[in-house]
Amino acid sequence: MSLVFDHVTLGQRVLFGSGRAAENLAAEVDRLGASRVMVIASQSEHSVAREVAAGIDVTVFHDDVAPHVPVTKADKARAAATENAIDLLVCIGGGSTTGLAKAVALTTGLPIVAVPTTYAGSEATNVWGLTEAAHKTTGVDDAVLPATVVYDAQLTLSLPVELSVASGLNAMAHCIDSMWAPRTDPINKALASEGIRALADGLPAIKADPHDVTGREQAQYGAYLSAVAFASAGSGLHHQICHVLGGAYDLPHAQTHATVLPYVLAFNAPAAPDAERRIAAAFGTGTASAGLNDLRVVLDAPRALKDCGLDEAAIPEAVERILPFVPDSNPRPVTSHDLETLLLAAHSGETPAGT
Ligand code: NAD
Repeated sequence: MSLVFDHVTLGQRVLFGSGRAAENLAAEVDRLGASRVMVIASQSEHSVAREVAAGIDVTVFHDDVAPHVPVTKADKARAAATENAIDLLVCIGGGSTTGLAKAVALTTGLPIVAVPTTYAGSEATNVWGLTEAAHKTTGVDDAVLPATVVYDAQLTLSLPVELSVASGLNAMAHCIDSMWAPRTDPINKALASEGIRALADGLPAIKADPHDVTGREQAQYGAYLSAVAFASAGSGLHHQICHVLGGAYDLPHAQTHATVLPYVLAFNAPAAPDAERRIAAAFGTGTASAGLNDLRVVLDAPRALKDCGLDEAAIPEAVERILPFVPDSNPRPVTSHDLETLLLAAHSGETPAGT
């Protein structure tokens, strides 16, 4: 069969190295010729941010960060950037912190250097998100893609194991959903396969020893690959489900992804033989679902949406909200009955069908 595809690779510099964040950040600020830097980091990320920013002149530290980037917080950060004549944004933290820097870049065009401290992967995408009145809006704009990402696995050592597992499975979801997302292509599938391998290698090592930097490096490398694949392939069925659940019912982002993923995989894999083969090969297991489920057992991963705060009574409404967003590219049709069955199983945490 001939190979025909159309792939866009986003332009971004990546500096990877444990213990090198401060040095790499200082070199990047210098290279970009920035003189008025705003560092965005939440209060809980503040001490790590001070350490990483030790080698640069900081004009202002901004710590008013909240999950899902409320518009009011975005406006406040934009005003701080303008009032201080900022010429470079540096975000040090998880996806919420990166998201706030992206919101500022969206309206100001300021470049971003991102220093991630979770495995969310927002730093490698051109996707932004803003929340107003419990409604989350997302969009795509190259202006929000960080110019540079500085990865330093030592910065994730303080991330508790439970959050590391959920965040790592959020990255795994980027990989698996990229196999059938609307704009997937062989390059995205290759990146996603290597991402699965790296995450399946790194996450158990973190669980066994949270201070193991080698495991954290593998997880961070896998998280980057997962986000590059996701940014290019777009949102598949899994992301559309989690987007609705997170936005409409205020569920925790990483935990929701970690919980829903095995149900979407069990639903789609029988109709997606190429994805099934690639995912199983990346895990080194007989089937894709066996690979994911074995990993989830080792990690003691989040199991049920009821534990994430989803009320069972909300499921019929959630089904109606999700249905219009089911991508045409999904390997099999999705009925409201299918979605309801999937969400009810994920809600109770029962073993995913077909595994
Ligand atoms: P988060 O950024 O909200 O962080 C979770 C918690 O962990 C926070 O309390 C944070 O302060 C803390 N934390 C972060 N790093 C830490 C560390 N090293 N040590 C100790 N504590 C630490 O959560 P997240 O899962 O990283 O990001 C989720 C957000 O990112 C969501 O809003 C999601 O929509 C967004 N996201 C966006 C994209 C995109 O492409 N735009 C991709 C993935 C996620």
